[in-house]
Amino acid sequence: PYTGPPGEEILAKRKQYLSPSLFHFYNQPLNVVDGKKQYLFDESGRRYLDAFGGIATVCCGHCHPDVVESIVKQTRILQHSTVLYLNHAIADFAEALANKLPGNLKVVFFTNSGTEANELAMMIARLYTGCHDIISLRNAYHGNAAGTMGATAQSIWKFNTIQSGVHHAVNPDPYRGVFGSDGQKYANDVQDLIEFGTSGQVAGFISEAIQGVGGIVELAPGYLPAVYKSIRNAGGLCIADEVQCGFARTGSHFWGFENQSVVPDIVTMAKGIGNGIPLGAVVTTPEIAEVLTRRCYFNTFGGNPVCTAAGLAVLKIIEKEKLQENAFVVGSYLKERLTSLKDKYDLIGDVRGRGLMLGVELVTDHQLKIPAKAETLYLMDQMKEMGVLIGKGGFYGNVFRITPPLCFTKEDADFLVDVMYYTMSKM
Ligand code: PMP
Repeated sequence: PYTGPPGEEILAKRKQYLSPSLFHFYNQPLNVVDGKKQYLFDESGRRYLDAFGGIATVCCGHCHPDVVESIVKQTRILQHSTVLYLNHAIADFAEALANKLPGNLKVVFFTNSGTEANELAMMIARLYTGCHDIISLRNAYHGNAAGTMGATAQSIWKFNTIQSGVHHAVNPDPYRGVFGSDGQKYANDVQDLIEFGTSGQVAGFISEAIQGVGGIVELAPGYLPAVYKSIRNAGGLCIADEVQCGFARTGSHFWGFENQSVVPDIVTMAKGIGNGIPLGAVVTTPEIAEVLTRRCYFNTFGGNPVCTAAGLAVLKIIEKEKLQENAFVVGSYLKERLTSLKDKYDLIGDVRGRGLMLGVELVTDHQLKIPAKAETLYLMDQMKEMGVLIGKGGFYGNVFRITPPLCFTKEDADFLVDVMYYTMSKM
């Protein structure tokens, strides 16, 4: 049993010693003390079904024994900076990761986070092209440092600091966007931005295939192929941010961008890559990677032996436990059940996503799509009381985000939907 301090004490310390900007889910924040597979446990030993997975982070399940074992084993042998001496862990994982990517995407740079990965990707695009302008999508989240905050396009995540050179295109959002599901029409806006907002030459374009923080928005079909064409015609590089939608999460494919049948020039990743360990990566082609030889480029802990040992374990587990197939089968089933719930409750405006990256958007009016923000918060709290932890996001904070560990079962899916159904019926 848990013998640590109670939640109230931790909360008081957080208030006194940690950033006042920290926020937490739930009126009565949860003190999670233990995790196993798709479950989390609070201080009283109560079990919760974790349908958010640390923001799409825990792909193999909490504290997967193979990941733990690889970390412990490597920690006992050596933990060190990355680059000055040889060590097999970084090379082994780089090889395994490169083998998961299509085309000529074969050179890996390791980082410690998604923000770092996207900062590096954007810098590489700028160096390679000699241009500064980058196009990203409205509603995007790509990180919280200077460059990536520029690429991020939701006011609540942006501070008034210099974030130069990013243009934000109309979001190809099939539910709220003005062009519905017509990917080509949204892509025309990118072409317009190139023609009217830049010199006609750009450094690149960055987007997720399914926006996570943005509220599980699947880009309209046909969007990425058309945009990639425009960007490449303007001399730019196409960056796929796979921080949330990568690592088998969408089920049908290992990478989110594969759902739109494109091959990016640069792919960035984090979160799921290490099953919760601080690890990120940028993968690109040998030719593009060459730009970093112009100066010294160094990241003390990026790709350190412990984190890369964990990363390699993650890839093996996804394969061994057929987690991609599971994400497809269970995710499809869950989406079907959520969609049938939509017919019963007017509050549900949209059900969307792929595999185990699903979203449920709540609105108080189907026609006007008025965000049901308060209802979302209330239901989240109620679902927690019944043992289900779910995420929240979207510009209006009215979208349930469902991104559980990929070992989620059909029974878990049933429990989640039954609890959602019950809490909605009691409103
Ligand atoms: N890209 C995406 C798509 C993300 O969701 C996030 C984090 N929410 C990031 C980048 C930034 O990652 P990190 O928090 O590890 O810096």
